[in-house]
Amino acid sequence: MPPLPAIIAIDGPVASGKSSVGKRLADRLGYLFFDTGLLYRAITYLALRDRIPLDDPAALELYALRAHVDVQPPTVQDGRDCTVLAEGDEDITWELRSKTVEDSVSVVAAVPGVRRVLTSQMRRIGLRGRVVMVGRDVGTVILPEAGLKFFITASVEARARRRFAEAQAGGRPRTYADILANLRERDRIDSSRQAAPLRPADDALQLDTTDLDLDGVVAALTAALAARADP
Ligand code: C5P
Repeated sequence: MPPLPAIIAIDGPVASGKSSVGKRLADRLGYLFFDTGLLYRAITYLALRDRIPLDDPAALELYALRAHVDVQPPTVQDGRDCTVLAEGDEDITWELRSKTVEDSVSVVAAVPGVRRVLTSQMRRIGLRGRVVMVGRDVGTVILPEAGLKFFITASVEARARRRFAEAQAGGRPRTYADILANLRERDRIDSSRQAAPLRPADDALQLDTTDLDLDGVVAALTAALAARADP
């Protein structure tokens, strides 16, 4: 049986289920789970707060280069999967889920200089191995050498329903219509940008999760892992 791949990449659009399933898979394998979207969200939140003009790519790149963002295991048991710290001690975990951040993150993530900075940080972490990394361009750009790549999709309505349920459970008031509009807009920007657009790697296994719950997605990924180990 071939050894487990040291790097597993999971890409897909917003709310396709990639983070929940990636976390489960990482826990099961004893791997690090790394959600690359958090870094784009963190830079967006901090740049908005510090009034960096989002239409100034050079300023954003410099800002991303200087920012100190750290992702740690949860420090508070309030439903979070991890704690995100800025400048060493500022807990910005929940700020990253705000509507303000969600409305601007794809614009910031489309800036090539910001991507260069964050991609090299993520690549360094990924190359240590024993990692499940999730995002939009993990299998195509950040870690094309990943031993196993998944591309997870679901209909935009199914994804909006999931985000709506999460927002309600987390006490964050958002309407379904607002979430659906935000997903459509982020899909559009993420898929059409010049730098590292959202697309499946040629060697990615594709999975549509529209009609699957989390257990179903985990089962499908585990089956793919087993099939790979037993050709
Ligand atoms: O995955 P999540 O929804 O948290 O990602 C937030 C945004 O960050 C995405 O809409 C996308 O614009 C950007 N992103 C990216 N490349 C990644 C991960 C996220 O462009 N690898």
